Amino acid sequence: MATDISILGLGLMGSALAGTLLKAGHRVTVWNRSAAKAEPLAAQGAAVAGTAAEAVLASPLVIVCVLDYAATRQLLDGADLAGRTVLNLTNGRPAEARETAAWVTGLGGDYLDGGIMAVPQMIGAPGALILYSGSPAAFDRHEPALTALAEPRYLGEDPGLAPLYDLAMLTGMYGQFAGFLGAAALIASERRSVAEFTESLLVPWLHAMAAITPPMGTQIDAGDHATDVANLEVNRVALANLETTFREQGVRPDLLLPLKAIVDRRVAGGHGAEDLSALVEELR
Ligand code: NAP
Repeated sequence: MATDISILGLGLMGSALAGTLLKAGHRVTVWNRSAAKAEPLAAQGAAVAGTAAEAVLASPLVIVCVLDYAATRQLLDGADLAGRTVLNLTNGRPAEARETAAWVTGLGGDYLDGGIMAVPQMIGAPGALILYSGSPAAFDRHEPALTALAEPRYLGEDPGLAPLYDLAMLTGMYGQFAGFLGAAALIASERRSVAEFTESLLVPWLHAMAAITPPMGTQIDAGDHATDVANLEVNRVALANLETTFREQGVRPDLLLPLKAIVDRRVAGGHGAEDLSALVEELR
């Protein structure tokens, strides 16, 4: 049966994508390695393909959302990709996206890569974002349908851009979680309420600190690390106090130590007057 969109991979995320596209009124074909996961979607009106290759043939837009790129390649191997747009929403690396794009285009298909900045429950709801990169023509053609899933943000023709930005977003997220976890351990060391501290003090503070990062981004773009906020020498002393306090409270400072080491190195190199933004020079 000819449908609009095929979804290969019906884990938590693939099932949410398929369910949302069905609700938006699209004709959808689904396929999953373990067939049972297709049943709830069949009950919602999806066509179920017997093989991945059949699912690819069913629709001009083929969305893949599985564990990794090796699984993506494995399930598309032998399918007729000519004239199809393959949109890979599987999490991976820029190099993998570029390799997969070359392989798909070599077989006559168009390739889009995507990075989902949402959990399954957010798909189709306000606040969900999906980053895209790859064939501009394919993105233009499919953007109206993709808007049903999440706000689409197209980053450019290089297919590696969506995973690069996705991983950069996750890097920011893990940094935030690392800061939260260290702060929570410190508060818990005095048996104070972490929940109350987080809600009434930490989150408003993090919002205020997040607001100074765009100007830091401008400084990094310009390579100009002058500061009127707090220089690296002041940050070096603060981080030394933090490390000592963590140890005195019986808390491991492990999550802070890599940042402290980079600050120490930059200051030792004679750059104590610079802004925190200068640390990016040590990372390059
Ligand atoms: P999941 O629930 O664990 O589902 C994994 C899917 O991959 C299943 O459909 C599984 O098939 C399939 N699979 C694994 N190995 C395979 C193989 N060799 N051949 C064919 N199919 C294979 O994972 P998920 O949460 O849906 O995540 C899927 C992708 O979305 C991942 O790249 C993830 O990083 C990304 N993502 C997820 C979230 C999230 O919050 N869940 C958010 C953003 C991005 P079986 O059912 O047969 O095992």
